[in-house]
Amino acid sequence: MIPYGRQDITQADVDAVVQVLQSDYLTQGPMVPKFEETVAQHVGAKYALAVNSATSALHIACLALGLGKGDWLWTSPITFVASANCGLYCGANVDFVDIDPRTYNLCPIALEKKLIEAESANRLPKVVIPVHLCGQPCDMAAIRALSDRFGFKIIEDASHAIGGKYRGEFIGNGRYSDITIFSFHPVKIITTAEGGMALTNDADLANKMALLRSHGITRDPAQMTHESDGPWYYQQIDLGFNYRMTELQAALGVSQMARLDQFVARRHELATRYDQLLANLPVTRPWQHPDSYSGLHLYVIRLQLDQIGKTHRQVFESLREQGIGVNLHYIPVHMQPYYKAMGFKAEDFPEAKRYYTEAISLPMFQTMSEAQQDQVIAAVEKSLLS
Ligand SMILES: *Cc1c(COP(=O)(O)O)cnc(C)c1O
Repeated sequence: MIPYGRQDITQADVDAVVQVLQSDYLTQGPMVPKFEETVAQHVGAKYALAVNSATSALHIACLALGLGKGDWLWTSPITFVASANCGLYCGANVDFVDIDPRTYNLCPIALEKKLIEAESANRLPKVVIPVHLCGQPCDMAAIRALSDRFGFKIIEDASHAIGGKYRGEFIGNGRYSDITIFSFHPVKIITTAEGGMALTNDADLANKMALLRSHGITRDPAQMTHESDGPWYYQQIDLGFNYRMTELQAALGVSQMARLDQFVARRHELATRYDQLLANLPVTRPWQHPDSYSGLHLYVIRLQLDQIGKTHRQVFESLREQGIGVNLHYIPVHMQPYYKAMGFKAEDFPEAKRYYTEAISLPMFQTMSEAQQDQVIAAVEKSLLS
């Protein structure tokens, strides 16, 4: 089976992890700060906090922005459930904004319309989470202009997008948002096995997230409510969690970061080749905004079902049967049973619903060979035309 995504681990990566295993610190040593500095410098952010998953990063980002009971968080229905669940963790309400039919990202026009309605109902969101689906950046300038007008905070869920650029600058530099999140799960662009990161240019937010990552505990006398009792002393000044990343993971992350730009460039080569090889088939290829350089975590095609004598499911099953590990990113979050039980209907977000009936993620990972890619194309042709 050719998987839809897979990690790229070299001997240098293995050596970096083994070196940490033989060192003094397996956790809370020098590697996590080094990884944070490496990523922050690469993308151009002031502060970076490594955590044990992007899900944890989303949670502490929401808390740091003050999201709580009675507040609203809005995100895209076409995302992994974690982009929405983080609002529920904080006791907030979650709602969605339909997608742009070309980019499949949260649509700024739909967002504006919904904000105007929410303003008159006195139900404006506190936090909006645009998700850079497949690595293609959302229209951040438009979303930021709406945030200035309506007063919500922005967390970019850039789980798919490390190494990508928006208007010539790396995603994660925070020019248009309050906090950006990366994921380092093995199917993503770089990996730390499990792992995530929250980046910001705001010292106060960085400080809050640092506390929340580790039990709400500080050893910094400046943050304590009264003078230290002695050299052993620490204070819990907030209710936090254990969301820390290990030294082994951070060492893997540092080692992977050295190849990030190469990884994304390779993904672009593969995407260009897919674009050419799929050109004459009844599928819609991913549209790329000219202002952006996608991280290309995923390569999603949409079936032109009116030109294919098969259902979406039949094409999908045929590909799996031919050994192609295709996937579907994503089942719209509002159609999940847990969200349906809150009252959402499939038809609430018609573009997202339609996307779900046509989308298929083809294999896309940096170690994929051209021979493997040819195998994918042959299988796609067979599944569509035979
Ligand atoms: C993978 C992913 C997450 C969650 O990442 P983890 O590191 O697995 O917690 C969140 N949002 C999106 C869009 C993702 O793809």
